[in-house]
Amino acid sequence: MMKRATRKFWQIAFAAILLVVPGFGQSKLPNVVVLATGGTIAGAASSDVQAAYTSGQVGVDQLIAAVPQAKKLATLRGEQISNIGSQDMNDEVWLKLARRVNELAAMPDVEGIVITHGTDTIEETAYFLNLVVKTKKPVVMTAAMRPSTALSADGPLNFYNAVAVAANQAAGGRGVLVVINDWVHGAASLTKTSTTAVQTFLSPLRLIGTVAYGDAEFYRGPVGRNTLDSEFSLDGVSALPRVDIIEAYENMDGKLIDAAAAAGDKGIVIAGVGNGNMTQAALAALAEESKKGIVCVRSSRVVTGRVGRNVEVDDDKLGLIASEDLSPQKARLLLRLALLRQRSLADLQRIFQEY
Ligand code: ASP
Repeated sequence: MMKRATRKFWQIAFAAILLVVPGFGQSKLPNVVVLATGGTIAGAASSDVQAAYTSGQVGVDQLIAAVPQAKKLATLRGEQISNIGSQDMNDEVWLKLARRVNELAAMPDVEGIVITHGTDTIEETAYFLNLVVKTKKPVVMTAAMRPSTALSADGPLNFYNAVAVAANQAAGGRGVLVVINDWVHGAASLTKTSTTAVQTFLSPLRLIGTVAYGDAEFYRGPVGRNTLDSEFSLDGVSALPRVDIIEAYENMDGKLIDAAAAAGDKGIVIAGVGNGNMTQAALAALAEESKKGIVCVRSSRVVTGRVGRNVEVDDDKLGLIASEDLSPQKARLLLRLALLRQRSLADLQRIFQEY
């Protein structure tokens, strides 16, 4: 029989091991909250091989229940923010979602947040949250290209991987992440490149990491200022200023630019050809609107590459802003946040350089 002193020694040693070795003994799973907004990941079709389907049919509890494996990674609870196709994403949902993420992230017992979303506008919502969410905790978005009822639906594994990344403290401090098809994208970089392929998202600027069946590897941090390091906040904000995107093309005139100004735009983003270029007629119309105080940003309809200041267009003379690395859709939302207060053109150009 073990002597009393020896038994006592082993009892103390075992208690010490429990204290210093995380996960040893009874492990506590991280608490992850799932915020569902809709999209194809919650979509349904009438058969498993049918192309036609409707986004946003499945509720958050059903979505969580469909991936029971994820419950081994984290203690999950869900909230339904909206249930829409992300082509219908709007300011009301954005403000509600951003506020809820900030509230949840401030709760000491919430370790991570997963947001399910449609693929059409996930890059915009991710970048918006990246600029207005104030936390270093993992905020991870995910989506699917195939509806939940499809043969080889991609949603369940994407969801599982998103939960794994949200439950992984190494994911924190990298800005808002998007986990889809085994890749971990940063919000500033990712862009949708195929209307139908499962491997639709690419990160031309750089990928943050990979995740295979829940096993995540992180290579780097985010591109541009984000979350706690962002100067933007939604405190006291109930509406965002109107900014429209106009695409450039052969023989473009200034009529759509004038129409955008007449519609009440505070800013206009041009999805230019090449390095943010457009016809002389369009440039003249843009310079006119700039003189009237409408902020005009030159971006590009080309998927990769930077739009530089004063390259082929004299931005200084015409009073224009160059979008730098941002796509037209991301430039638009950065401008909407920047225009929440009065700023000089120099300050606006700084913002496009830093975010
Ligand atoms: N139209 C869908 C949406 O964005 C597409 C998808 O989720 O893949 O909600």
